Amino acid sequence: MSKDTARVVKKVRENRDITSLFIEEFGESFRKRRAGQFLTLKIMQEGQWSKPHPFTISCAPEDPRLRVTIKKLGVFTSLIHDLKEGEPVIVSGPYGGFCKDIDARGEIVMIAGGVGITPFLSVLRHFRNIRARNHVLLLWSNKSLDDAFALDELNAMSREIPLTIVHNLSREAPGTDLSEYAHQDFPAVFYEPGRCSRDLMKRYLPSDDPAVFLCGPPPMQDYILGELDALEMDSGSVEKESFTWKGIR
Ligand SMILES: Cc1cc2nc3c(=O)[nH]c(=O)nc-3n(C[C@H](O)[C@H](O)[C@H](O)COP(=O)(O)OP(=O)(O)OC[C@H]3O[C@@H](n4cnc5c(N)ncnc54)[C@H](O)[C@@H]3O)c2cc1C
Repeated sequence: MSKDTARVVKKVRENRDITSLFIEEFGESFRKRRAGQFLTLKIMQEGQWSKPHPFTISCAPEDPRLRVTIKKLGVFTSLIHDLKEGEPVIVSGPYGGFCKDIDARGEIVMIAGGVGITPFLSVLRHFRNIRARNHVLLLWSNKSLDDAFALDELNAMSREIPLTIVHNLSREAPGTDLSEYAHQDFPAVFYEPGRCSRDLMKRYLPSDDPAVFLCGPPPMQDYILGELDALEMDSGSVEKESFTWKGIR
């Protein structure tokens, strides 16, 4: 067995098509990881190691285990959902520089589409653990609330650190009343119908010049950057991660 071999010790179903794997017995290189970085994962397929696929490490960097949170898309990610606890995997990394200097930014806006929340979950879990004082606005777009996950944890974080959360539910027609979702215990968590438009952002964006981080599918990114331009914000300074497969072979 390869010296890189790690082990899946726990599997958590986050929602209909998103699963988290918790991994132990990984290499020393991961001890020095930063929030927002990713790893590549190989699984055993018909007696052979698969090709590596990239996934963000969704837990805090100080967490003793690695966690990856994976959406079922094609063949590989469907096999992930059937992995058994105890199975060996090969993980390499950590890679990437997304959110590298985020700790130093006082006013932060995170804009996520769907499973693009994973690097931000890592940062927020870290911020919660160290009780960071950075002010964060998280704008998270999903088709519906059923497509979101980690909601209880995010709600709790909104009371533990200076975090405002806006759930943009794109399947809900603009104007729909979503007050049924709101809870008085979590006054910094909001639910908005429709896309993450310039009008919506205008209502929530801090007045200072925030550091903006964006992670989601390319069409969503193009839309958001256009809306930021329309608000005369510097879309060129937005730090982006697209999850686009560049074919690590
Ligand atoms: C830096 C980075 C971080 C990521 N983090 C996450 C994460 O936290 N959670 C998560 O769910 N996903 C993440 N992804 C995306 C994830 O790697 C892909 O969704 C996954 O590898 C696709 O698996 P599949 O089952 O479709 O693959 P397969 O069935 O093996 O591939 C099907 C086909 O799609 C192509 N393909 C595979 N992945 C992509 C892609 N990303 N873009 C375009 N074409 C692709 C393949 O080349 C192949 O032709 C990340 C990607 C990157 C680059």
